Formats: sequence, C-alpha cells, structure tokens
Amino acid sequence: MIVAIYPGSFDPITNGHLDIIDRARRIFDHLIVAVLQNPNKVPLFSAEERKRMIEEAVADFPNVEVEVFDGLLVHFARSRGCRVILRGLRAISDYEYETQIALTNRKMAPEIETVFLPTSTEYSYLNSTVVKEIARFGGCVRGLVPPGVERRLREKFSSVSR
Ligand code: ADP
Repeated sequence: MIVAIYPGSFDPITNGHLDIIDRARRIFDHLIVAVLQNPNKVPLFSAEERKRMIEEAVADFPNVEVEVFDGLLVHFARSRGCRVILRGLRAISDYEYETQIALTNRKMAPEIETVFLPTSTEYSYLNSTVVKEIARFGGCVRGLVPPGVERRLREKFSSVSR
C-alpha cells in the first residue's frame, strides 16, 4: 500500500492542483493532500477554509483525504506512513526550487521519495497568486478553480476593501 502526500499552500486550490490530484490518485493507493499552515506567510484563506475547499473539490475521490499540517513535512509524512512526496512541476523554473527541497527532504528522510508530476499543458500558466489577483480586481476565474472556490473568492473580495 503506497501512501503519497501532496503538500502545498493551496491558497486557494486551483484546477491545476486538482488535475495533479486526479492523476495521482490513480497511481497511488492513498493520497493525502496536506495543507501547510506556514507562520511566515499571511494567506488569504485560513488553513481550515483551504482544507474545506479542497475537501469539496475531491468529494468524489474515495482514496483522497485532506489534512492541515505545520512544522517539517517529513515529520508529518512519517507520522502518516507516507513513502512518497508528490509535487507538481510547471515551468523549468519550478524544477530548480523543487529539486532543492526534494534533496533536503531526502537528506532528512531517505526512506521517502519525492515524485514530480508534470502539469497538464492547459494549466501550465496557472497558480494561486494569479487567481487571487484576477478575483481581487473583479475578473472571472471560472474554469481556473473549482466552483466552490470561485464563490468564496467572490465573497472574500466583496467584503474586503480593494
Ligand atoms: P507551495 O506554496 O508549496 O508552492 P502551492 O499550493 O503553490 O504550494 O503548490 C503546491 C504544489 O502544486 C507545488 O508542487 C506546485 O508546483 C504544484 N502546482 C501548482 N500549480 C500547479 C499547476 N497549475 N499545475 C501543476 N502543478 C501545480
């Protein structure tokens, strides 16, 4: 039984993330989407909100669960019996950063392998920051994020001054 962990900020989850989750759940027996509560970043959505949005988006995927974590990823992965860390790769610019993190994690936890999945071409430009910028200024994010995220972005920015 191979349990993989897909960590990230997911602030908020996009269809690019969802595409990686959907493909990975067919490869691994069990997939944990791990929402990072990072004390160095001020997110738009709380960790619980981010978790809930992902849970809604993966409701039809029986072998996918969502958890919030803080601290070191390898400690969390070990505590859940994960043997694989999954990351998505978009541009070649992702590669340098991701390799550095993967090698650092391997140094700390040699029994856990990092696996990269390349993005699907239609999502290669997509990231959470772009989505937030579009939504902040009243643009349409349909097709870029799951419907529940689209709704919450609208609510968030209609209550926050621009
Ligand atoms: P982090 O803050 O850790 O980079 P993100 O939430 O931005 O977390 O991304 C989590 C993971 O998803 C990363 O591996 C990132 O490369 C990947 N990812 C983000 N957007 C896409 C996309 N459009 N296609 C494929 N992978 C993606």
